[in-house]
Amino acid sequence: MRMERINFNLKLFIPRDAAVTECPGCKTPGSLLRRKSSGRADHIIQKLTFRKKYHCANCKWNGKISVYRLTKKLRQTLLNYLIIAAASALLLFVIYLLSKR
Ligand SMILES: [Zn+2]
Repeated sequence: MRMERINFNLKLFIPRDAAVTECPGCKTPGSLLRRKSSGRADHIIQKLTFRKKYHCANCKWNGKISVYRLTKKLRQTLLNYLIIAAASALLLFVIYLLSKR
């Protein structure tokens, strides 16, 4: 694997626009409206999970939708980090074995 293929670009998430996102219930685009979070704990959960409550003005659908989508680039970057981590672990293991002699 060549090092220059690794992408450290931080623009890995695409903010999802509720006005464009279609309703999971009736598939109507732009029918989703934000709901206010019911409490402090709820607000924290929303921040941590990047999910926000929505309801549909068309079919009364209620639920949570992820604010961000994982991009293909992010998946590739995570895979790259995993490969680096595995390679580093292997290298450390080899160094450890050599130092024991
Ligand atoms: Zn709907």
